[in-house]
Amino acid sequence: MENQAAEVTINQVKLRIIQGDLTQQDTDAIVNAANPSLMGGGGVDGAIHQAGGPAILEECKQIVSRQGRLPTGKAVITTGGNLKARYVIHTVGPIWHGGNKGEPELLASAYQESLKLAADNSLTSLSFPSISTGAYGYPVSVAAKVAISAVITFLQQSTTSLKKVVFVLFDPQTFKAYSSALNEVTRQGNQRG
Ligand code: ADP
Repeated sequence: MENQAAEVTINQVKLRIIQGDLTQQDTDAIVNAANPSLMGGGGVDGAIHQAGGPAILEECKQIVSRQGRLPTGKAVITTGGNLKARYVIHTVGPIWHGGNKGEPELLASAYQESLKLAADNSLTSLSFPSISTGAYGYPVSVAAKVAISAVITFLQQSTTSLKKVVFVLFDPQTFKAYSSALNEVTRQGNQRG
């Protein structure tokens, strides 16, 4: 059975958590958990290029030839090719090295730079995968809290074109981790507020 979606509203923006396939989302953009080469890879990156077709990789190559490899925590935007989403925002999350090498700050930056780029392009909706928790080895329970907090902080601090932000989690364990994190982070926020 599919897990029940969860939703909160932050500064008039809907923040949803669902279990599903990122490549099938019809938000204005989907975010790719890319690597600095922007040349594609496994996991969600491979799935996006496979579903979106060669136009995405073409633009990625042009970006790298213009500005070099994409640093961890930064984001760039390309066409969505054949995807339902019009754009793909490519960001690079940190590789997990135990947690004391700036991983939380870099992971938060990957989410916030993606949101900023979406807003700079006047997009209204955006879907994220669970960045860094696959091949990059970031423990999902820790990453989920960083991810949810980073998105909520961004939405609280800036009023933008964005109306909907969705976390699209592939497997039930990841979905559960993000649901717990959403509960925890919004409960803490309520206590403070
Ligand atoms: P990273 O290299 O940043 O760790 P991965 O792609 O290896 O990125 O994994 C990130 C997350 O994306 C994992 O939770 C993985 O299960 C998930 N994932 C893989 N394919 C999809 C997909 N089609 N839709 C959503 N999430 C996906």
